[in-house]
Amino acid sequence: MKLILLGAPGAGKGTVAKLLTKMDGSVQISTGDILRAAVAAGTELGKKAEAAMKAGDLVSDDLIMGIMGERLKEDDCKNGYLLDGFPRTIPQAEALKVLLADMGETLDAVVNIDVPRDVILDRLTTRRTCTDCGEIYNVKSNPPKVEGVCDKCGGPVVQRDDETEEAISNRLDVYNEKTAPLAGFYEKEGMLLTVEATSSDDVINAIKEKLGK
Ligand code: ADP
Ligand code: ZN
Repeated sequence: MKLILLGAPGAGKGTVAKLLTKMDGSVQISTGDILRAAVAAGTELGKKAEAAMKAGDLVSDDLIMGIMGERLKEDDCKNGYLLDGFPRTIPQAEALKVLLADMGETLDAVVNIDVPRDVILDRLTTRRTCTDCGEIYNVKSNPPKVEGVCDKCGGPVVQRDDETEEAISNRLDVYNEKTAPLAGFYEKEGMLLTVEATSSDDVINAIKEKLGK
């Protein structure tokens, strides 16, 4: 499958992507994960992205397109990919369109995961993330077996820097302003599938139905 997953922070893009990779061997490509790894490793890219990320603002389109131009050409993309957190602005969507056309690739669909704002806020403030492997937990509904320790890899499970109340509210504003218009963009392209669902399984079923898989 070649999909774009659209949706506010906390809509469940990452969870849905991880479930889908298990179905057909496609890879999850999360620009947020790539950027966080770069920040943790202290690379040039990380240094450029760090301040914007911490504030919940977007990293520049140029930086993101540089990353994705390379990433989509890697071998593991042959079996399909799930774009999680990219594109996030109209210029990124336009640039992606050109990039895919150059590569001779077509996407199967753009899935817009639509979750009510109160559910999103609750999820984001209770979300915890493993800094080593990216596994996502929730203090209420899905805590790690040992507090603060990842079940999968033993790494530290913490609240992300951009998951303070202030940064969360900024991320949601940025989403509404810069990213929500992508739904209209892809609607016009005839690629949009909007799913109103708070359960990841329901989202997966809607995608399967739409793609006939
Ligand atoms: P979310 O949980 O908000 O979907 P992500 O993990 O996708 O978070 O992204 C975390 C941060 O990384 C964003 O708030 C932003 O600063 C940066 N980022 C990730 N993807 C992009 C992108 N496509 N364009 C610009 N900035 C991005
Ligand atoms: Zn882990």
